[in-house]
Amino acid sequence: MVDAVYPGSFDPLHNGHLDVVTRAAKLFDSLLVAIYETPPKNVLFSTEERVELFRGSVAQLDNVEVAPFKGLVTQLARDVGAGYVVRGLRAGYDFESEFEMALMWRHLEPGIDVVCMMSALEYQFLYSSRIKEVARLGADIQGLVPEQVAERLNAKLNGS
Ligand code: ADP
Repeated sequence: MVDAVYPGSFDPLHNGHLDVVTRAAKLFDSLLVAIYETPPKNVLFSTEERVELFRGSVAQLDNVEVAPFKGLVTQLARDVGAGYVVRGLRAGYDFESEFEMALMWRHLEPGIDVVCMMSALEYQFLYSSRIKEVARLGADIQGLVPEQVAERLNAKLNGS
């Protein structure tokens, strides 16, 4: 049983995600970071890699677990006894898509509430897709992602 789940693709995890997890870990007694095995987009990192990178980055948060999952978020929340789904918000675009998704989840499972948390201002521009794009072009991504993510991303994209 956990209080809340934080689902996402996390391909890869970046400091905006970590900021949201850290805030949510203060709000809830227990939090499950749930990593989509089959997100509706192509992923660069395998499920195992995304789980391992996330675990390595939240090892200091005692009340946070990380696991892969398949299927509906609402089913996962029901299965693990969670009453809340955590999502993160950046300014602009996220609100519309998170609002629409939260209402669908509420329709599917009225007993579950979605809690949206805004990341710190310095992480508002972080998108996994943009990080991959600039890293592929040789940009320095230190400070945007945990160190082990930067290393793995550079190794995967540029063989360095
Ligand atoms: P998904 O594949 O479900 O969109 P992501 O891995 O991209 O998942 O993100 C998981 C959650 O984290 C989503 O709610 C997303 O809005 C949120 N998120 C992503 N980047 C940031 C950020 N920089 N600041 C705050 N929330 C973020």
